[in-house]
Amino acid sequence: MHKSDAAAAAAGGATLAGRRALVTGSTSGIGLAIARALRAEGAAIVLNGLGDEDEIAALCEELGADFNGANLMQADAIAAMMDEIGGIDILVNNAGMQHVAPVEEFPPEKWDAIIALNLTAAFHTTRLAVPGMKAKGWGRIINTASAHSLAASPFKSAYVAAKHGIAGFTKTIALELAEHGVTANCISPGYVWTPLVENQIPDTMAARGMTREEVINNVLLAGQPTRKFVRPEDVGAMAVFLCSAAADNITGANLSMDGGWTAK
Ligand code: NAD
Repeated sequence: MHKSDAAAAAAGGATLAGRRALVTGSTSGIGLAIARALRAEGAAIVLNGLGDEDEIAALCEELGADFNGANLMQADAIAAMMDEIGGIDILVNNAGMQHVAPVEEFPPEKWDAIIALNLTAAFHTTRLAVPGMKAKGWGRIINTASAHSLAASPFKSAYVAAKHGIAGFTKTIALELAEHGVTANCISPGYVWTPLVENQIPDTMAARGMTREEVINNVLLAGQPTRKFVRPEDVGAMAVFLCSAAADNITGANLSMDGGWTAK
């Protein structure tokens, strides 16, 4: 038994023993929380993402995980990654980025990068993972979408377009895979306190002429009726549930975890 398997067993979780999961963008934030949660239930993990080599090595050690640092903005790099890592049972398309600017000032290269990473990458990983899942008759595809897959905010044109896109993509593949034991769902968080949110504060301050505190309270948390950030580990717990047998009949869903944002 790998020492991380022993750790998972000691933590009481083994419901995903024997399953192998690729979590994209798992060197930070929500993806890392999802990887930790799946690992705690006994899944073998493949991490992906950018970051400091030593920090990534420490995460691989912590989780007993493999790592592939493919740049998901490049289709050929994704193909090489999927080839290298081999079969997976659970695919979590999570890597994402943000840029905040009025549409007339939105840099076209930022538009292309956001669509490539937040939307097109999920198409490539999915198309390459699906044959193995179909052959096994079991699979889970979980896409980290966003409240912005259901509602818009100004100055986030590319992000909102990509997130609405991944919601539609998820519904489509759910229908295609429904008779193959493979489910596909979106988890749609509201604001989660991660580097992605922290890093957009300066641009939002500039775009709206606000202070940091005004952006946090009057923009970010203003939309969330609970007035609280979502915790990354809550998203991890939802991913674990979607991988459980109890979620066999949840497919094509877009599950909000947004403190009531999209109820308004
Ligand atoms: P984060 O910045 O903490 O993590 C992003 C991850 O993506 C990192 O691991 C990073 O290395 C990786 N990444 C970035 N560019 C990459 C590339 N070119 N190739 C491969 N990996 C790359 O952000 P987060 O907040 O954890 O966001 C994760 C996902 O959750 C994103 O899809 C984001 O849109 C979504 N989301 C976040 C929030 C939030 O409030 N934080 C809310 C809703 C949805």
